[in-house]
Amino acid sequence: MTRPPSPKVEPERVIELEHAVVEGMDISGHWNRMFEQRVIFDYDVAALERVTELDGGESMGWCYQCAQCIAVCPVDHVGSYGPRKLYRKLQIGIDLFTDPDLWLCTTCANCLRVCPKEVNMLEVMPAVRKEAVLEGDVPAELQDVFEKTARYGNPLGKNPKRRVAWTKGLDVEVPLIADLGRKVDVLWWVSDYPAYHPRGIEASRALARVLTRLGVDFAILGAEERHDGDSMLRAGESGLFEMLADHNIEVLNRYEFDVLMTTDPHAYNAFLHEYPERGGSYEVVHYTQFLAERLADMGLSEEVGGTITFHDPCYLGRHNGEYDAPRELIGALPGADFVEMWRNRQNGYCCGGGGGGMWLDGFAAEHQTMRLSEKRVLEAVETGADTLCVVCPYEVSRFEDAVKSTNNDGNLQVLDIAELLAKAMGLPTD
Ligand code: SF4
Ligand code: SF4
Repeated sequence: MTRPPSPKVEPERVIELEHAVVEGMDISGHWNRMFEQRVIFDYDVAALERVTELDGGESMGWCYQCAQCIAVCPVDHVGSYGPRKLYRKLQIGIDLFTDPDLWLCTTCANCLRVCPKEVNMLEVMPAVRKEAVLEGDVPAELQDVFEKTARYGNPLGKNPKRRVAWTKGLDVEVPLIADLGRKVDVLWWVSDYPAYHPRGIEASRALARVLTRLGVDFAILGAEERHDGDSMLRAGESGLFEMLADHNIEVLNRYEFDVLMTTDPHAYNAFLHEYPERGGSYEVVHYTQFLAERLADMGLSEEVGGTITFHDPCYLGRHNGEYDAPRELIGALPGADFVEMWRNRQNGYCCGGGGGGMWLDGFAAEHQTMRLSEKRVLEAVETGADTLCVVCPYEVSRFEDAVKSTNNDGNLQVLDIAELLAKAMGLPTD
């Protein structure tokens, strides 16, 4: 038997012999090749290392391409996305710092939930975005919101003095804690959309009536409150977050209260995880948690009727583990049926509003087949429900827009749980 001479094999490269005959059989490369010869080249790791060298970017390098994240990434369902794909793009040299992909992640945390390597986009994305913000490489609509928030203290660019306008003409009193001049049981952190957006205002008025009927000793901050900053932090504007948080902590620390109750899961997240290290530690509850504990006192007697489905906010559910309180409240509504969407609880589908996505709808529409809010509305309609119940102030406006843009006007109404509870309590709903 004549053996061919030993080939010189480089560690990263398999050499194919042009001519090889073994025991009379011709096994030359071109006969045995099933596919085109694979060229295994050395990847240039520069683009990946620019990310992994950042404080917070390290875990991007841990991906081993199992693809579990892709199945659950909400953006992949309306495009081509997810940590696995981002890793491959970095391997072939795509610069994430200037690529549109940087702004599509909503920091929904569903990939982190399933990733065996704990690749953490909740840290990676803000770290890279922070650099992009410093370079001024930010989508125009988001940059506009950064500037409005820095100037007015809210992303809508509204006059801070108008923060209490929603309480005018209301049939119940919503006191300012500064005016009361005493400790209260509950300081209600109202947030921006519930104070300024027309649909947010309706939900706020409903919640004020519910709290009053329950006899809760509560107050608000009014014009002293500013945006909580959580979404600015995820969007990479850490300096703006720090400015907002320090202002809010300084204000909160001036007053006495037992519980800080938030309408917004993003504010809830900030108070739980970001404010303590800056000197702001409070007993924090989301309003659904606060109300669920008082279900027995609510006197829910009026028929609500219909079929209700529920959207889990990422920053209440996956980020902070609260799935039951909203469902307990919905389950107690007289005469209403409850139906889950197929993606719920831990696998709830993101509305697209997190991580700065709230202010990137135009940008997202250019890079996705549809907005996440539209995808979610279609899922809600699929259940046959006539009402989509929400418990995050980002969602009423997002989903109402999506109901219109998917031609589902008249098929689905979007209501805050406070509005449904007020109805069941026989309270006015304006
Ligand atoms: S789940 Fe984690 S390890 Fe698997 S492909 Fe996605 S990021 Fe990579
Ligand atoms: S955090 Fe959510 S949107 Fe971002 S990559 Fe992971 S699954 Fe996709």
